[in-house]
Amino acid sequence: MGDLTGRIAVVTGAGRGIVAAIVKRMLKDKVKGVAMLDYDGALLEASAKNLDPEQKRVFCAVCDVSNREQVHATVAKIIEHFGTIDILVNNAGITRDKIFHKMDPENWDSVLNINLNGPFNLCREIVPLMREKNYGRIVNISSTSAFGNAGQANYAASKAGLIGFTKTLAKEGGLKNITANCVAPGFIDTDMLRAVPPDVLKGYLAGIPVNRLGKPDEIASVVSFFSSDDASFVTGQYLIVNGGANT
Ligand code: NAD
Repeated sequence: MGDLTGRIAVVTGAGRGIVAAIVKRMLKDKVKGVAMLDYDGALLEASAKNLDPEQKRVFCAVCDVSNREQVHATVAKIIEHFGTIDILVNNAGITRDKIFHKMDPENWDSVLNINLNGPFNLCREIVPLMREKNYGRIVNISSTSAFGNAGQANYAASKAGLIGFTKTLAKEGGLKNITANCVAPGFIDTDMLRAVPPDVLKGYLAGIPVNRLGKPDEIASVVSFFSSDDASFVTGQYLIVNGGANT
C-alpha cells in the first residue's frame, strides 16, 4: 500500500512523534523528496539525520506554522529545492489542556493558532500550486478529541475545525484532482502524551478495546494510504484510528 514514487511531500511538525513515522513510511514508499518543517531546529536536524542520513531526499526547514510570513518564505524555499509539491501533511500540533473555566485566552489562542491556523497558512500557499498542476493530496491530522474531551475545549475546537476545513477543501478540490482527508488518532504513544497524568492515562487505557496505546507507525500507514493514488476516489473523509475506543 502507498506507492509514492516520484512525489514531493511537505510535512509539518517534523521533529519527532507521529511525523517521524510518517516521513519514514514515505521514504519506504519511494517518495522522491520530503520537506520537513518544525520550529525546533535542533530536533528537526537530529530527526532528519536519523531518517535520511545522507539527506538526499529530506529537506529541512525551520518554520513556525502559525507564522504566515515564515510559511510563505518556507514554501518558496521548498519550490526552489524540489520544484513542486504533490502532498501536504498538516501534522504540527500542540495541547494546552485546562478545564474550560480555568482556560485563559493565551491557552485558547496558541492552540488555535498552531493547530488550525497552521494548516490554513500551509494550504493558502500550497493549494494554488496544486490547482495549477491539477494534482494534490492533503492529509490533516485531527484527533478523536474533535468530538469533545474534558480539559481540551481549545484542542477539540481546533481539531473539529480541521475536519470541517478538510471536507471543504475536498469539495472545492475535486475537479482539480486534489483530495483532502483527515486522520483522527486516539491515544498514540508519543511525547504529547507525556503531559497526561499517569492515572488519567490509565483511565484512558481501560476504554481501549485493544488495551494499549497506538504506535506512530499505525498512523503513518493511514497517512500513506490517503497520500497515495490508491485513495484517488477517497476524499473529504476522516478515519478514526483509536484501537476501537468509543469517541
Ligand atoms: P509531538 O508533540 O510529539 O510532535 C509535534 C511536533 O510538532 C513537534 O516536533 C513540535 O516541535 C512540532 N510543532 C509544534 N508546534 C509547531 C509550530 N508552531 N510550527 C512547527 N512545528 C511545530 O506530537 P505528536 O503526538 O506526534 O502529534 C502529532 C499530531 O497528531 C498533532 O497534530 C496532534 O494533535 C495529533 N494527535 C496526537 C495524538 C497522540 O496521542 N499523540 C492523538 C491525536 C492526535
